[in-house]
Amino acid sequence: MRPDRFAGPAAVAAKGRVAAVRWLASRRSAQAAFLALFASGPLVGIWITKGTLASSMTLGVLPLTDPLLLLQSLAALHVPERSALIGASIVLAAYAVVGGRMFCSWVCPVNLLTDLAHWLRLRAGFKNALRLNRQLRYWLLAATIAMSAATGSVVWEAVNPVTMLHRGLLFGTLAAAGLAAVVVGAVFLFDLAVAERGWCSHLCPVGAFYGLIGRFRLLKVAAPRRADCDHCQDCFQVCPEPHVIVPALKAPAGGDAAIRSIDCTNCGRCIDVCPQSVFAFSLGGKP
Ligand code: SF4
Ligand code: SF4
Repeated sequence: MRPDRFAGPAAVAAKGRVAAVRWLASRRSAQAAFLALFASGPLVGIWITKGTLASSMTLGVLPLTDPLLLLQSLAALHVPERSALIGASIVLAAYAVVGGRMFCSWVCPVNLLTDLAHWLRLRAGFKNALRLNRQLRYWLLAATIAMSAATGSVVWEAVNPVTMLHRGLLFGTLAAAGLAAVVVGAVFLFDLAVAERGWCSHLCPVGAFYGLIGRFRLLKVAAPRRADCDHCQDCFQVCPEPHVIVPALKAPAGGDAAIRSIDCTNCGRCIDVCPQSVFAFSLGGKP
């Protein structure tokens, strides 16, 4: 349903346009920079990073591997290369500190499309045709590992929209790019017309896995000025996982006001749109 008012203008009026889009602009820049880093080789011959988000080598010395891909490989009883083990350890360590789901909001290219779908459905006033349980993604995550173990092959990666979009954009033959367009287009339409935030907040096993990695993250969003909240609901409108906000807003004075849920993507959008500047990034969750 179309909301009574859209989030954003109140924050612009209270804090100015720059402060009201600071984290959104930063994360769009980061997403574009990651795409450019991977695309500069295949498109213009400047090979800083070779590979895709699943597995890459930067400047010939820094291997990075998706730890979920490694886990599926191990479940399929494949013997991993040393560089894959090192690359997955680096990625695990980095996201354990900054929050696993920062992958979703700052790196993953699918997020650009699912955010666009959400923005469009709000403006169109589409109703939710399907209500999904947010725990479904963990069952799907378990299924991806089980399928690898059962088939001896990393089957999920053949249809993973994240991998397909990256491969399709960077190296796709016409057929591979077409298949990626179909799968990613289906995710976009699903989010737009069927289930609000259907893919990223309910189904995607990759996001679920990265959320688990970030359970003990140091970087969190907190609500240090929750006493100033005027219940405008703008943060709930923009948050991809709105259930994570309530405990922080309801924390008693002097209590723990950090958003601790593994579902929070550390996107910072609640910080942007809050006219009362209730939220802020914090280290260790200290207000
Ligand atoms: S939930 Fe999945 S598709 Fe969505 S942003 Fe995260 S990794 Fe990408
Ligand atoms: S609580 Fe804030 S930082 Fe976390 S997902 Fe929601 S909008 Fe993004």
